[in-house]
Amino acid sequence: MITASSLERVAVCPSSVNLPQFGRVTEASTAGNVIHKFMEEACAKGTTAALENVPAEFLEACQILALESLPTFQPGAFAAEVAFAFNINTFECRELGRNIGREYVAHGAHPTNDICGSADVVGLTDDAVVVIDWKTGYSHQDPSSLQMRFLGTVAAQAYGKSEAHVLIYRLRDGEVSRLHGHLDCFQFAAVQQELAAIERVANSSGTSSLVVSEQCRFCPAMPGCPAHARMVNALALEGGSALTAADLAATLTVDGVKRAWALKKAAEIALDRISEACKLFASTTPVPLDNGKVLGPCEQEKESIDAGVVHKLLGKEYGVEVADAVVEMAVSKKDLDSALKSQAVKAGTPFAPLKRSFYEKIRAVGGSRVRTVISVREHSSAKG
Ligand code: SF4
Repeated sequence: MITASSLERVAVCPSSVNLPQFGRVTEASTAGNVIHKFMEEACAKGTTAALENVPAEFLEACQILALESLPTFQPGAFAAEVAFAFNINTFECRELGRNIGREYVAHGAHPTNDICGSADVVGLTDDAVVVIDWKTGYSHQDPSSLQMRFLGTVAAQAYGKSEAHVLIYRLRDGEVSRLHGHLDCFQFAAVQQELAAIERVANSSGTSSLVVSEQCRFCPAMPGCPAHARMVNALALEGGSALTAADLAATLTVDGVKRAWALKKAAEIALDRISEACKLFASTTPVPLDNGKVLGPCEQEKESIDAGVVHKLLGKEYGVEVADAVVEMAVSKKDLDSALKSQAVKAGTPFAPLKRSFYEKIRAVGGSRVRTVISVREHSSAKG
């Protein structure tokens, strides 16, 4: 079945839905679980109590999502984890249920005629539906993505609303940003046509339309995908090439680099997945390697030393200058945020402003350093 979260991939690689699918827990699904649990608890016990159980890295995000901070909804007209279905033949849009855990077919969806998807939060105003979704890590999805247009369109049509507001809260590197998109009834019709076309192409493509791209990263069919296997084999053969980087660079053009870079990214994804799969296998079945070593579980003792104790001992034995030169006190942003989170919850104040104010105090007394590092990497053209 095509789901909302797979639409971008299916649009690029239609045959990906026709290969066997293998489940995989991603960072996104971990965050989804945290937010899902927070919403459930917030509805049952109130936001303050629910925030107590939220890990520090998701706290700011959950505070923004706190029910009190949502746009004005009709009383009681918001819900978490709402599942929808869109029928590609009749264009009917309907709610399948809430908290159904992606069990779409068990809740009435048709396995081939429906496209299904769930929204993290759905709210209703007089005229519009408001769909809120969370993205974590390096997801590039924005409100114009197929997934969000699907959710906005199908939710609005299911509840008879003429507009949809789609909001994405993106959690990245401890910062939360909010992206807003809007759809009206003309756009609903275009989205429905687009969805039906994607489903038609996917259903009729068999396994002949496999396209290796960045979409492979979270593709559940990757372990059994012949296109990916071919690419890995080709890489293995190329690995024996005697060409140096300078030889290769001399032959490249802008278009060549564009293609090679896309291939490199797809290859890295494949290699990560191969490494993950090999380690998973070897965790229960150690594998002797050709270099005489073994890939398998390995017990190691790692000693860590306490900076405070070392500083004190060094100072006593060799003087405080030696101790200061050797021992560096360390603090991580994660631990600091966790401590600030407890203080915010204890004081009943929002985490974001408390955190901002504390970081400003750190900077004011010269407690933070910003280094400028120049590296060759992908970046938005505005930074170029
Ligand atoms: S791994 Fe890539 S090429 Fe293979 S089915 Fe998935 S998206 Fe398509």
